[in-house]
Amino acid sequence: MNISGKKITVLGAARSGIAAAIMLAKNGASVFVSDSAPAIKSKTDMELLDKNTIEYELGIHSQRIFEADYVVLSPGIPVASQIVQSFYKKNIPVYAEVEAAGWINKSPLIGVTGSNGKTTTTSLIGEMLRQEDDKSIIAGNIGQPLSAFVEDSREKRWAVVELSSFQLETIDQFKPEIAVVLNFAPNHLDRYPSYEAYLEAKWRITKNVSENDLLIYNGDDAKIVEWATAIKSKKMSFTVGRENPDGAACRDNKIFLFGKELMDADEIILQGVHNYMNVMAAALASHQAGISFDQIRTVLKNFAGIEHRLEKVAEVNGVLYVNDSKATTVESLYYALQSFNRPIVLIAGGKDKGSDFSRLNDLIRENVKELILIGSAADKMAYTWQGVRPSNKEASMKNALRRADQIAEEGDVVLLSPACASFDMFTDYEDRGRQFKEIVLRKLKSKRVKKV
Ligand code: ADP
Repeated sequence: MNISGKKITVLGAARSGIAAAIMLAKNGASVFVSDSAPAIKSKTDMELLDKNTIEYELGIHSQRIFEADYVVLSPGIPVASQIVQSFYKKNIPVYAEVEAAGWINKSPLIGVTGSNGKTTTTSLIGEMLRQEDDKSIIAGNIGQPLSAFVEDSREKRWAVVELSSFQLETIDQFKPEIAVVLNFAPNHLDRYPSYEAYLEAKWRITKNVSENDLLIYNGDDAKIVEWATAIKSKKMSFTVGRENPDGAACRDNKIFLFGKELMDADEIILQGVHNYMNVMAAALASHQAGISFDQIRTVLKNFAGIEHRLEKVAEVNGVLYVNDSKATTVESLYYALQSFNRPIVLIAGGKDKGSDFSRLNDLIRENVKELILIGSAADKMAYTWQGVRPSNKEASMKNALRRADQIAEEGDVVLLSPACASFDMFTDYEDRGRQFKEIVLRKLKSKRVKKV
């Protein structure tokens, strides 16, 4: 796509909107950024726009947004929203930030999607690629969007990019050479008309893959297996508990790649079956991109995980505090509850995404000592888990941790794994996780705190 001289409106002045705007302007487009939120989110971002002589408006969408050949949409703005629909009515095409990045990008791409584990898997693949080329690109939720890296892209340099369903909704020609589909689980049901519609958005990662491309998929997920049969690309699956000579397998506490033993699962720092699935997907993808078994092993023996994902914060008088603030889905909490061999005092709740929490009843009964519930979902959770385990409702993270401190005994784990979004009480999941960590480290400073 030749964008030189084209008029492009960027909707949304958050991280991906800003990166897309700068990339487009540098490549000769005439860019206008519009964000309906009144508050300036980041002064530095606005300065960046000024520096690149990009015009913008905040707190309003004026008529000027329609003076455009294309629109680049930030993933935070739903396609169903009135503002986006008004572009469709005027026949102005609307594209995702990754689609726009794809216009300029030269690197071969590994795209990672799924309901859970995207950031972990993307980071793992990135670390593996960097064993070969330390300038390999890692784009997505954890750092910067792909648009921020296109200047560094090269035909011989791999880029791995995390793809949310929101991004995939508005791709058109975007195509990864290697597409990874980790899993399907209910999420964002507040933004999609149905579960099927959400899954279809994720599956769009396969929209443009051809015979020469590779699809890596979860061979234990019936829906994904069914949909994969219709895809004409090369295919490899990863599975748990059985042999899988053409893909990756986790069995007998070992990881196998193409029937050959890669390593013992115990040698991997990331623990839990969910992480073994991420590991297998990452190993398949990076091996396809030229990374050796040895290089893969090195990463798996050293990669200690990412902030806010089952992150061990401190051990206080024999009580382990774990920050899993990124667990914004029921599925993530489901795995978190199986990741410890010790009783759990669980802090959960936040902004409900239309989830069915009753799926966790058995696990809560077996593994949780007491529940501490926060946020607007607290009442729904308390109602769902009535009679399953005792629960306490608390109004702030500080109070939740004070209560946890009263309940937890030596040998327990205090786990923040909310199964909900954070926006009712916090700026985002990172803010939620940081508050948890700060309070644990500060309030309990007087006690014997062991940093872990
Ligand atoms: P995403 O980027 O898809 O949100 P993350 O890698 O950030 O995923 O992990 C988010 C949460 O999901 C964490 O709490 C983590 O423990 C959990 N998780 C990670 N991988 C998986 C998986 N394969 N299946 C289910 N839950 C997972």
